[in-house]
Amino acid sequence: MLKNKTAVVTGGTRGIGLAIARKYLENGANVVVAGSRQETVDQALEKLQEYEGHIMGICPNLCDPQEVAAVFASVRERFGSLDILVNNAGISSRTSIYEYTMEEFTRIVDINLKAVCVCSQAAARIMKEQGGGVILNTSSMVGEYGQASGCIYPTTKFAVNGLTRSLARELARDGIRVNAVAPGVTNTDMVSALPKEMVERIAAGIPLGRVGEPMDVANAFLYLASDMADYVTGVVLRVDGATMV
Ligand code: NAD
Repeated sequence: MLKNKTAVVTGGTRGIGLAIARKYLENGANVVVAGSRQETVDQALEKLQEYEGHIMGICPNLCDPQEVAAVFASVRERFGSLDILVNNAGISSRTSIYEYTMEEFTRIVDINLKAVCVCSQAAARIMKEQGGGVILNTSSMVGEYGQASGCIYPTTKFAVNGLTRSLARELARDGIRVNAVAPGVTNTDMVSALPKEMVERIAAGIPLGRVGEPMDVANAFLYLASDMADYVTGVVLRVDGATMV
């Protein structure tokens, strides 16, 4: 479904991002895994080594426009194009509003929102020149409902939904589609860091009867990146088993 396409997946070193990287590779794409540290990027590349020749690792500061532009240019040079950007890197938080420090606030906003803007800008410039592309964002079900602690995390995901819907309209004329996937509780490190009772409580309210797996989410990202979604832009696709909160 993605033959001859090149995708950059931020936060592609583990969890949902690694599942997206694998799914894209299985479907014929070249995949560039962007992580926060060279060590974790190397570990991810090792897990994907059967796709050697079609994988590349990068770890730019995702909030630095010059750095991001330079590595995206190197991606284009290596594979000939940059067709798909998946803004997936993200950090979660359970901190109470009474306890938030401005450092934590900035850290969450930087990776969950600023990096999405910076990477989208750099990718859109390349995609416009190429005549089109696809930008996909990882949102969250809490970007629809909010959550009862760590309010800055859902706030950034509400913003990601707004950015998705706005960029879809702005970039349509350049042949660039922009969509988001909003996972429910998904079985990754981010979730194993949450209190067990909290995960159980959320899972109990899922009509499909289970927590999501990274591949459930990756399948949605495959569809939205592919030509099957040619007339789909500006959507936030829920992949949450119809979770009710
Ligand atoms: P994870 O913690 O397993 O992975 C997060 C990824 O982001 C890692 O690859 C990490 O290296 C990367 N990352 C973090 N900070 C970074 C930085 N400064 N620079 C570059 N990369 C950085 O989490 P996950 O569950 O796979 O989450 C991936 C995305 O899915 C996030 O955007 C998260 O908000 C979203 N999400 C997760 C769930 C869930 O239940 N797991 C639910 C809804 C949304």
